[in-house]
Amino acid sequence: MNTSAAPYLSVVIPAHNEAEVITETHRRVTAACTALNRPYEFVVVNDGSTDRTWELLVELSCCDPCLVAVNLSRNHGHQLALTAGLHVARGERVLVMDADLQDPPELLPELMRAMDDGADVAYAQRRTRPGDSVPKRVLCAVFYRLLARLADVPTQLDSGDFRLLSRRVVDLLRAMPERQPFLRGMVSWLGFQQTPVFYDRDARFAGTSKYPLSKLLKLAFDAVVSSSLKPLAFATMVGSVTGLLGLVLLAYALASWLFIGGTPHGWTSLIGAVVLLGSLQLFMLGIIGEYLGRIFIQTRGRPIFLVDRVVREGRVVDAAVAEPTRPPA
Ligand code: UDP
Ligand code: MG
Repeated sequence: MNTSAAPYLSVVIPAHNEAEVITETHRRVTAACTALNRPYEFVVVNDGSTDRTWELLVELSCCDPCLVAVNLSRNHGHQLALTAGLHVARGERVLVMDADLQDPPELLPELMRAMDDGADVAYAQRRTRPGDSVPKRVLCAVFYRLLARLADVPTQLDSGDFRLLSRRVVDLLRAMPERQPFLRGMVSWLGFQQTPVFYDRDARFAGTSKYPLSKLLKLAFDAVVSSSLKPLAFATMVGSVTGLLGLVLLAYALASWLFIGGTPHGWTSLIGAVVLLGSLQLFMLGIIGEYLGRIFIQTRGRPIFLVDRVVREGRVVDAAVAEPTRPPA
């Protein structure tokens, strides 16, 4: 275990089959960090690569004491690889970015400046993303807008995991025991001062995307499910609407039976049973959903509130007090 003093900055990068880019990424990240003139570490998490990524990392670490190479036991996926990196990182500030140089490390000084100005989270927001295909850009734009509507707290549009986090934000993220983390959503949920820094997203330096449509859809699903309870309330809403429509239909069926006549035998009672039972079932599903939502929130184990700072006689006396009943990290 490394017992030396914590560095000022940690850069955390997950890497899955990135042998084609990792040397160049190491060069550019090192250049950006060296320019800061502060102690830093560069944590690369190898997420079950089947190419030479790990061998290259071990080679690079031989001549770079700032490089910390972490090897996961198998492929765990981008979000879990990032989470592992956040657990290893010791810096006062932690920069999270991708391995493929789509996120330029040269944005670091600007992100740092935003944090110097008081931000706990400086997130890079894409002005353009010429490096991605048109269908992917459209899909992502729709997804971010949908998530912003559904999420229980405000979420940031058009920004990935490329962001600079303060130590207290990293510590709070580490204390969240979520099994399927969606880090961006968790960071948004934490609150504090979050400042955007705009940039143009480059194309991948080399190699192909490690996010095929299937993984992207899973991420989108995790994002919605972990950030919102609205899908659970959907059954209640549909149940209410169909219930109302059903009542109109029932009134029509009764009126036909009473005043017009000629309705087939048993039709009115059948319509009544179908309408009432159908909407009642949906409505009850919605009620079960409400309970399920509360159990979900409880098991997610997030703190019930977070204090930014406490001021007494004009001075900050406590920088961050999390609610006391939070389970220990
Ligand atoms: N990645 C990972 N595990 C995976 C898939 C991706 O660690 O199972 C990493 C990958 O190496 C990269 C980042 O996640 O550093 C983003 O992946 P990619 O650039 O392929 O996604 P895209 O930019 O195409 O959405
Ligand atoms: Mg990429």
